[in-house]
Amino acid sequence: MTDDELMGLAIDEARAAAAREPADVPIGAVVVGPDGAVLASAGNRREADEDPTAHAEILALRRAAQVTGRWNLTGCTLVVTLEPCTMCAGAIVLARTQRVVVGAMDPKAGAAGSLYDLVREPRLNHRVELTTGVRAQECGDLLREFFRARRARRP
Ligand SMILES: [Zn+2]
Repeated sequence: MTDDELMGLAIDEARAAAAREPADVPIGAVVVGPDGAVLASAGNRREADEDPTAHAEILALRRAAQVTGRWNLTGCTLVVTLEPCTMCAGAIVLARTQRVVVGAMDPKAGAAGSLYDLVREPRLNHRVELTTGVRAQECGDLLREFFRARRARRP
């Protein structure tokens, strides 16, 4: 599958997160193995699980590790609709993820090229290949629409 197609799966996860009750901010992630097989996908579950760490990337990395039976995801690619935060960028490095594909950037909290660049930090022991801007408009529109609708619902 191409990056565009994989981002489509991540977008599906993001949409599912927003459609749940309670709704979660629409962010989705997919982990692909070295052979291109999809190992795991997940949407943000912070509200659903009442867990501040239940970001899509963390859940997808965890599932991919369970599926492969290894914490070390060398050769794997993580595809995510929004630029990872500092926590997720840290987990991506710890998992030895080979490549990250990002949809929309997050200038306020992103740690993969915006506010920080932890995934390519030369002082860390692992660096990740980074591709950004894949279906960025669509990924960003999902978030903008979610927050616009939420603001509209408030009295
Ligand atoms: Zn995160």
